[in-house]
Amino acid sequence: MELEHAKELDLDLMSDFGLYYWKFKFDSAKMRFGLCDEITKTISLSEYLVLLNDEEVVEQVILHEIAHALVGCKHKHNHFFQQKANEIGCKFINRYCSEDINYVPKNVVANCPKCGYEFKRYRKPKSKKCCGKCVDIPYQERILIFERKMELSF
Ligand SMILES: [Zn+2]
Ligand SMILES: [Zn+2]
Repeated sequence: MELEHAKELDLDLMSDFGLYYWKFKFDSAKMRFGLCDEITKTISLSEYLVLLNDEEVVEQVILHEIAHALVGCKHKHNHFFQQKANEIGCKFINRYCSEDINYVPKNVVANCPKCGYEFKRYRKPKSKKCCGKCVDIPYQERILIFERKMELSF
């Protein structure tokens, strides 16, 4: 989604929900899509992640931050927050993202079952991989299982 449009959408939604004294900004976070700052009364969105996603996703993230603003950030993601999020039509209730969101490419991670070293990849490898650090151990004991890591938060 274009940044200009995301900003307009955010400002529209904030005024729809009565957040008249709130400001909007973009930030450069890559693992956090949106942020609600009660002290400065600011909702911010990751420029990077807005550009990677379409309007439906960005709107959901904005609604998530608006729900934080309406109930107060001290509630984090508890049931008061979830109730409000639900009420305003936000489906992104959990802290972590769903599969619908595009995010930072380097998000496929495997830990070696022997040494625990974390390997990061842009995508799941097509062939079997094993830990190159544990060369003395039989191949079958150091096979890496790559999984998508849900690190994105909002
Ligand atoms: Zn290893
Ligand atoms: Zn949140």
